This record gives sequence, structure tokens and C-alpha cells, in this order.
Amino acid sequence: LQSKLPDVGVSIFSQMTALAQETGAINLAQGFPDYDPPQALLEALARHARTPGYHQYAPMPGLPRLREAIAAQVARLQPDAPAPDAATEITITAGATEALYAVLAAVVRPGDEVLVFEPAYDLYGPAIRLQGGVPRYVRLPAPHFRPDWDAVRRVVSARTRLVMVNTPHNPSGSVFTAEDWDALAKLLDGTNALVLSDEVYEHLVFDGAPRLSARQHPALRERSFVLSSFGKTYHATGWKVGYCIAPPALSTEVRRVHQFLTFSVSTPTQHALADALEADPTDAHARGLAGFYQEKRDLFRSLLLDGGWNLLPVPGGYFQLARYDAFSPAGDLAFAQYLAREKGVAVVPVSAFYHDGFDEGLVRFCFAKEAATLEAAAARLR
Ligand code: PMP
Ligand code: GLN
Repeated sequence: LQSKLPDVGVSIFSQMTALAQETGAINLAQGFPDYDPPQALLEALARHARTPGYHQYAPMPGLPRLREAIAAQVARLQPDAPAPDAATEITITAGATEALYAVLAAVVRPGDEVLVFEPAYDLYGPAIRLQGGVPRYVRLPAPHFRPDWDAVRRVVSARTRLVMVNTPHNPSGSVFTAEDWDALAKLLDGTNALVLSDEVYEHLVFDGAPRLSARQHPALRERSFVLSSFGKTYHATGWKVGYCIAPPALSTEVRRVHQFLTFSVSTPTQHALADALEADPTDAHARGLAGFYQEKRDLFRSLLLDGGWNLLPVPGGYFQLARYDAFSPAGDLAFAQYLAREKGVAVVPVSAFYHDGFDEGLVRFCFAKEAATLEAAAARLR
């Protein structure tokens, strides 16, 4: 069989987790918390595992009560935007991963260009190419990883079908400002290009900065697919539940693909998440996440700074980038392997986020970990 993705190997996240298991290293590589979801959510899932009648297919676009709970929360958290319509604008997917793939499959035709900011989450490029699309990469410059809109302007053309945005950004944590959204809107004015806004870390914006969704920009809302993930919001990456919010005509197209990709998402899990949202009408959980993760960020940064590490700023998300080139000239993958084998801490080499393996001299640590885990890792990293 001739591979459709001959250049794609096992994802760096699986590779580094396997290396952590093999070496006994503390796994700060793959992005997942080492603590469990809130107790009430676990109890809701256990309750619904025993609820008669909750064990068959959920409705294709998602349980109505979960979509309504999401619509209500989004309306509360984004009061400046019209509330999304639960019936026609929200689709529950198997993680943001499925939503990403469904959007790309729904809108990208062979030869269409898709603008991707790099470093980029590893699935973007391959998923575009599987549709016959042509990724057009624009580098975000270190250390702030904010778009250079003049560089973006040179790449956008009539062939641009879609612009992929990720804010807060994996791996850098950079966050789109109102000016960034304005610049994007201005650039797309008069074009037919759509926007895929991957906002899975939406609640993790630090230091009091505004958290702005593509939905909150009137000119972008009508052309945007906005993605989120309960994996991030409820410390439940293994549950694989996410969603896509988009205007009705765009949601119709996402659902056309979703119905043939997974059809629907686990029923008892959706009920448990609906319980959690309904039980929290002030959004205390979502609103508390920024403080919760900022504390972890600050702890981890102070420990690594004491150990002599050169750290980049982290305005959002749950990853810390560090410059390693003072320690090792052999490249970031070699350095990541050295850290796992010799220091007992697994990280992700940031070159994995570039289609051409560009090596910026950075590694990524995940700080979504208990304080004790961060302290143990930092002690090994001194
Ligand atoms: N987008 C980004 C930027 C991510 O970091 C992740 C998770 N690592 C995903 C999408 C996938 O989300 P999910 O786990 O909900 O499929
Ligand atoms: N999103 C996670 C990360 O960036 C990994 C998800 C995965 O392993 N596919 O680490």
C-alpha cells in the first residue's frame, strides 16, 4: 500500500510518553493532568453508568441538554456576542480532535490553501493534506509567538479557503489580542476564507488578560468554527469530548462529516458533563481555571529559574517553553532524549511542531501537574 502520509511517524506525544515509561522519567511531555476531574463530575459519570436508558446512541449532533448547557455557559462568558443556538450551532464531537478533522474534511477541497501558524499542533498539517489541501505555513516569531500580520498578508490570496488559529496557543501559550482579531478580520474582508479557531485552552489566560474568542468579533463570527474541549476544561483528556460552535450553515457541513466519522459521542459521558455545567450556573469551575493554572505556572517557573533555566513567557495554556541551546548543541530531539534518560524528565522537542523540523532551540514542559510532581521534576532538572 502506498502511504498517503509517508512522512508521518508515530506522534511525538506517544513517542515521548513511551520513552517516559521505558526510562521511568517524570512525564512532562504529553499534555495531560496528573490529577482527576472534579469529584462531582466523576460521581455523575458513575451515576449515569447505572442510569437505565442512557446506553444507546446519543443524537447525532450531541445530547440536546448538553448543547443547551454549553449555549448558556458561552452566553454568560461571552456576553458581548449573541448566544449560540443549541439546536443549529453546536455539535458535540469526540474531542476537539474529531472537530478539527470534521471541519477540515467539510471545507477543504483539493488544491485549497489553508493558512497554518507554526509552531502548530501536530495534526493540522497532515489532516489538511489528507483532504488534498495545501498547508501554507507562517512562522510565529519567538519568544512571543505573536503573528506578524504583514507576513500573513503575503500568504493570504483568493486560494485561501481556511485560516487556522489556536489561542491560547500550543506549545507557546501566546494569546490573540483584540488587535490580532481585528487584523485577521481586516485581512479576510472581501474574501470567502473561513476561520477555524482552536480554543481548547480558552479558560487558561493568565495575568488578567482578556480571553477573546473568534465568536466575539462580529466580522469573524459569521465565518468561524470555534472549537473547545472538555478534556482541557474538566481535566478529562481521556473522555474525548469536545465541541464545535459555528453559524448554522457551517454547522450543517460539520455535521454532514461528523455523522459519518463517529455519528455521535458517548451518551453517559455527555449526561455527566451536562450535569456539571447545569450545577454551576456561575461558571465557578471555568472561571477558576486561570487562577488554578497560573499558580502552577508560577511555581514551576520559580523552581526552574532557580535551576538556571532560560524560560519563555507563558501568557496562557498549560505549557512552559524553555531554551536549551546553552546546554546542548545536538538538536532538540537529542536534548529531549538526554533529559529523559539522564535526568529523568520527559519533555517535547518543539521541532515536532514544525512541518520542516525547524529547530528553534526549545523544549516544552507540561505544567498541568500536582505541585509535588513539578517539584520532583524541577529537582531533577537543576
Ligand atoms: N488542539 C490543541 C491545540 C490541543 O493541544 C489538543 C490537545 N492536546 C487538541 C486540539 C485535541 O483536543 P482533544 O483532546 O479534545 O481531542
Ligand atoms: N494535546 C496534547 C499535547 O499537546 C497531546 C494530545 C495527544 O497526545 N494527541 O501534548
